[in-house]
This record gives sequence, structure tokens and C-alpha cells, in this order.
Amino acid sequence: MTMVSRVKPDLEFIKELQQVGGENVKKCFQCATCSVVCPLSPMDKSFPRKEMIWAQWGLKDKLVNDIDMWLCHKCGQCSEMCPRGAKPGELMAALRNMAYRNLTGPSFLGKWMSSIKHLPKLIAIPAIIYLIIWFITGSICGSAFPLKDGHVEYSLIFPGDYTIDPIFGLAAIFVIWSFYKGIMRLKEVFDTQPKTFVVGYTRPKTIWHALYEVIKDEVLTHKKFKDCGEEEDDQLKFKGHLTLFYGFAALFVVTAIVAFTHWAGRILPFFHMGYPMPLYNPVKLLANVGAILLIIGLINLTKRRLNESKKDASTYYDWYLLGLIWVVALSGILSEVLRWANIAGLAYLAYYIHLVSVFMLIAYLPWSKLGHLVYRVFALAYARMIGRVSTEVDEQKNKLFVI
Ligand code: SF4
Ligand code: SF4
Repeated sequence: MTMVSRVKPDLEFIKELQQVGGENVKKCFQCATCSVVCPLSPMDKSFPRKEMIWAQWGLKDKLVNDIDMWLCHKCGQCSEMCPRGAKPGELMAALRNMAYRNLTGPSFLGKWMSSIKHLPKLIAIPAIIYLIIWFITGSICGSAFPLKDGHVEYSLIFPGDYTIDPIFGLAAIFVIWSFYKGIMRLKEVFDTQPKTFVVGYTRPKTIWHALYEVIKDEVLTHKKFKDCGEEEDDQLKFKGHLTLFYGFAALFVVTAIVAFTHWAGRILPFFHMGYPMPLYNPVKLLANVGAILLIIGLINLTKRRLNESKKDASTYYDWYLLGLIWVVALSGILSEVLRWANIAGLAYLAYYIHLVSVFMLIAYLPWSKLGHLVYRVFALAYARMIGRVSTEVDEQKNKLFVI
């Protein structure tokens, strides 16, 4: 007897998907060109063709459980080659945008991150917190723009011990907890995926082995961005992501050293570094290198994004993150320059904007595109665990490697 299975499309889901960048799915006529040209798609059940038909049919369950959306690096080759202009690369990005929004609570944050109309609320949270602090400390100092010994000193208005460290410490705990919940949700979803046998490929024994491989082979080299193509846009994307990554890594190390020496210096004066640091201090030098890398990365990615916008392939989600990182970088540099120049009014304002933007970058991380730092790395590691990989043979070394 023939089994009849009914397809139950989720119309709300299709509408939501179209809002976050998947508006062209209906144009697809299943020619499979996109799956053929995709440099990262595995041979078996290749993407993004199957995602296109799932999206057309509103098969939400299949799409939200799909590990392949995380394997796509949005090189755009499939969208360029699609004869119908259905933009499959944008659909894959839209699926990830929806995932960032829904993987972890509170759900209102995911909703606020998805539309420009909620941006004022996202800004207002840190803006009000730091304005209240400024008002209180300004009253204590007798001036909202104090100068100590002829120098601008940010800690007079925003004392690290009572304002910056506790607020960012709490934000960091909130973010770690949210990522943990998101990863657990992803794991639950991925556990339903079948394991694949790939000739010549040995699956890592544990998720930790897989994570080590992904960090070594992909995160540190950004190899997949490089493999995406040779064209100007592909190179801009590769260089932009790589420099941004190392810029953030340098600034993360600086922040960790400053926090550690600050608190350890309370107990053991040996660790005390003395602030503000002189320009030749290695930690200061590293901070400046990090800032330069950040700016180089931002220039590359902004150029690419502008090119994509001409092709109608950028969304608010893309611009939100890029814009925010620009504000973080420029306000940080301005805070330093204005402090040297002793222009108190503008210096404190720049520092205030810097604190607000850094708060937005950190506290909303799991719901922003930057959440891929965690979710994509986990998904890539899990994909290796189940053999969902695309492989190639290096004939010189006679060795099989994961693309
Ligand atoms: S998205 Fe375009 S290339 Fe891919 S199957 Fe549909 S029509 Fe063909
Ligand atoms: S955007 Fe690139 S990586 Fe993603 S599905 Fe298309 S071709 Fe593959």
C-alpha cells in the first residue's frame, strides 16, 4: 500500500524567514546549480538546494534542525550562479539569523535585535545606566568633566571598581549562561542528525578533539573564507574577518591582563601597572595593534558589505553588527586621543559612548551575528563528529583533508 505523507507548511515561519533575508525563496525551481557550485557542500544531501525547497514548503522543523546552515560561509557563489535570482546564500544566512534570535532566552532580546525599530531600546539600557553613574560621580567630583593634575582621568567619573568591573562582570556571566543554554539547544537538535561514513575520514573521538581540530584548522586560519573564492569580494571577506578576529583577540588579551593586574595588584603590589599606561608599555602597544587590526578589518568588511548592498544582499542584521563595531573602535581611539589632548568635555563623552557600545557588543552577543563565534564553531565541531564534512585529497601528501 502506498503511504501518503502530508506536508504541513508553517506560513508564519515562511513570513518570518522572508523578513530576515529569505524573501526570494519562492523563485527557486530546483535546478540544483547552487549545490553544484557550492565549494563547501558535502556530496551527500548537499546544500543549499534542499533548504530552498524546505523553505518553500514551510518545513520549519527540518530547517531549524539543519546543521548545514552552519557549514555555509556565505561566499555568495550559489546566489551569483542561480539562474532564477533566488539567492540561496541569503536564505542560509537568514536561517542563521533566525537561529541567533531563537536559540536562547530572553526572547524579547532576540526580537529587539531583529529590527531597527527596537534599536533605541537596546541603546537605552546601557546609556541610562552610565548616565546615572556619570550624574552621581559628577556631583561627588563637583564637575561632570573633571581634570586631575591637568589630566583627563576617566576613573574619576567611571570608577572601574564600582561601575565598570561589576557591570561588565555581570554582563559576561549573563552572556556565558546564555551561550551555554544556546549550545545545549543546538546539541539537542544535532543529536537527531544521522552519522555519515566518509571513505578515508576518521571522525574525532570526542567533541573536545573536534573542537581542537576546528580551532586549529579553521578558526585560526579562516581557511573556509579563503576557500570561498578568488574574487575581490571573497578576498575582502577573508581579510576582513581574519584581521577583525585577531584585532578582537589582541583586545581580549589586553582586557584580561588589565583586569588581572588591577585586582591582583591590590594584594600583591608587584602586579600593579599604574594608570594611565605610557605609550611604550607592551600592553598599551598590544592594545593599539588590536585597534589598528580592528580598523583594517572594518574597512574591508564595510567595502564588501557596500558591494553586497548594491546586489541587495545585506540586511539590518549585517549592518547592525558592523556599525556597532565601528562605534566601539572609533570611540575607543577617540577616548585615547582626546585624553592625550586633554579636551575634557569631548574625552568624557567619547569614553561614555565607548562604554555604551562595548556593553551592547558584549551583553547582546548571543543574539547578534557575532554569536557565530560560538555557535558556528560548535556546529563545525559537531559536523566533524558525525562525518558531515566535505573532503578533498591532497595528492602530494597522499592524504585526505576536510575542506
Ligand atoms: S536556488 Fe537557484 S540554483 Fe538553487 S536550485 Fe533553486 S533555482 Fe536552482
Ligand atoms: S553561500 Fe557559499 S558556502 Fe553558502 S551555500 Fe552558497 S556557495 Fe555554499
